[in-house]
This record gives sequence, C-alpha cells and structure tokens, in this order.
Amino acid sequence: MTSRINLSELNKEQLSGFCSSLDLKKYRADQLFQWIHQKNAGSFDEMTNLPKELRNQLSGMAEIKGVQTASVNRSADGTIKCLFRLHDDKLVEAVLIPEFFDDGVADRLTVCVSSQVGCIFGCSFCATGKMGLFRNLTIGEITGQVLSINQIAEKEYGKRITNIVYMGMGEPFHNYQPVVDSAEILCDPLGLNLSPRRITISTVGLTRFITKYADERRPWNLAISLHAADDEKRNQIMPINESLNLSALRKSLEHYHSIMHQPVTYEYLLFDQFNDSPDDARKLAQIARWVPSKINIIMYNDVEGVELQRAKEDRLNRFMSGLSRMGARATVRRSRGDDIDAGCGQLAIKDQDGRGK
Ligand code: SF4
Repeated sequence: MTSRINLSELNKEQLSGFCSSLDLKKYRADQLFQWIHQKNAGSFDEMTNLPKELRNQLSGMAEIKGVQTASVNRSADGTIKCLFRLHDDKLVEAVLIPEFFDDGVADRLTVCVSSQVGCIFGCSFCATGKMGLFRNLTIGEITGQVLSINQIAEKEYGKRITNIVYMGMGEPFHNYQPVVDSAEILCDPLGLNLSPRRITISTVGLTRFITKYADERRPWNLAISLHAADDEKRNQIMPINESLNLSALRKSLEHYHSIMHQPVTYEYLLFDQFNDSPDDARKLAQIARWVPSKINIIMYNDVEGVELQRAKEDRLNRFMSGLSRMGARATVRRSRGDDIDAGCGQLAIKDQDGRGK
C-alpha cells in the first residue's frame, strides 16, 4: 500500500509542485494552502470551494496531519496554555500570553510556539530538557499550533494574535527548515499575513544555523537564550556551551550583524545567587556590546527537581542598575502563567507515548 502524502508538511513551493503534478491550476494550490495554513482545515471535506471530485481525489492520495487541541488551561493572569495532540499521539504545548492596556483590553497577544517534541540539549533549568528529544515537528504542526491559538484569541480577546515567539518546547534551530518554512507561511498573505518584525526565533546558540539564518537573510527577529555571561557558568547550566562557547557565539553574531544589521535579543533567566551578581551584570553588559542588542531579564519560575531558583527582588534591582550604569538596554520580563506551568522553562509533558510514564 502506498502511503498518502501529508500536505501539511510541505512548504508553499512544494505544495505548488504537488498541485502541478496533478495538473491543477495555480489558484487551486493557493486554495489548498489557505485551507491548511489560514483556516486550519483538518480534512479535505471542509474545503468547500474545491469541487467534490477533486476533494475525493485528494482524500485518496493525500492527508493533512495537523494538531488536535487536547486541553486548554487558563491562568489567573490571562495566560492560556494549550496542549496539542499530534497524529502519533505525541503531545506538545503552546502558550498565549496577553498583555493588557490599562483599561483591561488586550494590546499584544503573543503565541509561544513549540518546534520539537522534547529537546536534546538538556539545559539544567528547563523542564523540556528533562524529557529528551522524541521528534521534530512538521511545518503544519507548527502553523497548526498558532492557528488554533489564534482561534482561541479571537474568541477570548476579540482579536487576532499579534506576535509569535519560537520559545516553546524544543530548540528551533535544531529543526531549522520546518521552523523557517513555518515562519514564512505565517507571514504569507494566504496564511496569517503577520509582519516578519512580529516573529522572533530563539536559539541556545547553534552557531552554524545562526550563520545560515544570516546568509539566507531571514527577516524574523533573532533571540539568543544566553542565561549566563561567562563560559564557566554557562557550561554548568547549558551543556551546548561546552562545544559552542561564547567566543563561537560572538563570531556568529558578528557575522549575523554584518549581514542583517538588526539588533539581537539576549534572553537571560535570572537565578538566585548564580548569575545575578554585579560581576555577572558587568559581563552581560560586555556581551551586549558585541553587536547592537537588547536584553530581556526573565524572572524564573521554579521547576520541579531543579535547584536553581528565581532571583530575589533586591538582587534583581541591583542587577538592573548595574546593567543600566554600563549602558546596556535591558527590560525585566515577568514570566507569565506560572500557576499553570506555562512560564519560561516550564513546558514539559511527562506522559509522552511510551516514555516517562
Ligand atoms: Fe532545549 Fe531550550 Fe530547554 Fe535548553 S532551554 S533544554 S534548548 S528547550
């Protein structure tokens, strides 16, 4: 038996190629694309502007393996965490993070999206890192999370999502091609038509892919999960730093800047008595001068089994003053949704099929 082709794992060009191979006109490829990546269709039956005959033909040879919403959890602060079931029963999470105007109306609606089931990099503070890697997500499994959360945003907050950050489960650059293809699709007029400036892709510092991202002139924002400002401390919490250290990271960011001329963002989880001293602030400010950049200081949400803890407010204040004295642009991000384990570093599903049970 020949297996059916999964259309949701094709990028736009590949989907056009598939349609050409069936002698379909270009507008049919556009219609299919729109059904999958804008209307979140899960079957050909829903595609009512395609002739019945074509829908039957497609059902016989192709399929759409998207995501099914398994559960939705609401935090007291308005954050919504969604659990998605994939076609092979694996589970991933994505989070909707609303930021409100003073009058309580949602201003910015950011989706934090997953790129892999689990993660291989094993950062010591991260719940996902404790799962190990199960598999990469396909293009459609990434866009599907965003589209499903967009539907929730429209229902709950009366507006579409405004921003996407690839900072959920997994290391985005370890699943490079589907991640960049999905970002392209989310910016496509036949997708969600988002501005590239509204999308941020984060990496722990996979330097080869930072270089590739720059060489391909990818327009989305680049964020680096830094979390420590010298090799000794970074080695302790992020094993990747042992092979790709800060000097390698610096080189790749200088290359990125020489091509893209865009600031990078450093994400820095502040841990109590680990990376929150004046000396750490000084080192971080030096890193911030490698290329034009800004720093997000993130208050950590405690994760079961992790010794590192959230920094105390007085140490945070002293750290921020240190950064500002040294001219670094830094903002504090209060992690959101910690009452539903939706905060930074907290996404993990222990009961993946056959593992962790
Ligand atoms: Fe993987 Fe990112 Fe967690 Fe590190 S922080 S283990 S790269 S998901």
